[in-house]
Amino acid sequence: MLCCFKFTHAKMEPVGIVTKFISKNLNDTCYAYQCVRKPGFVYQLNLKTGNLYRCCRCRELKKDRYITIIDDMVIAERKHPEDDHHPDCEPLPEEVVAARQADRDMRLDVRTTGKYNRVILLL
Ligand SMILES: [Zn+2]
Repeated sequence: MLCCFKFTHAKMEPVGIVTKFISKNLNDTCYAYQCVRKPGFVYQLNLKTGNLYRCCRCRELKKDRYITIIDDMVIAERKHPEDDHHPDCEPLPEEVVAARQADRDMRLDVRTTGKYNRVILLL
């Protein structure tokens, strides 16, 4: 457990955990960050480069809010991951993200098994 303190300042509040999922274009690595300040809500993070992930909603609002994730763990920096988002950036209810992910899994399945091609041929 000692290793955790390497990245976490003693006075810092706990940070949420992240769950990996597939983005809407089906090939980007994304994470759902589970809020500790607002339980049951998540921020969606898209891979930017290396270990840097960008908040999807902030991106839509033209703000860059980056969070570092290494080995499925949020690396706590000076700012809390839930700080410094765009004023209009609100985390999404967990069910919404889970429902979207189920939809994406289905589409990914169709694509990889080739069912889609067969449907086209039959038409
Ligand atoms: Zn944000």
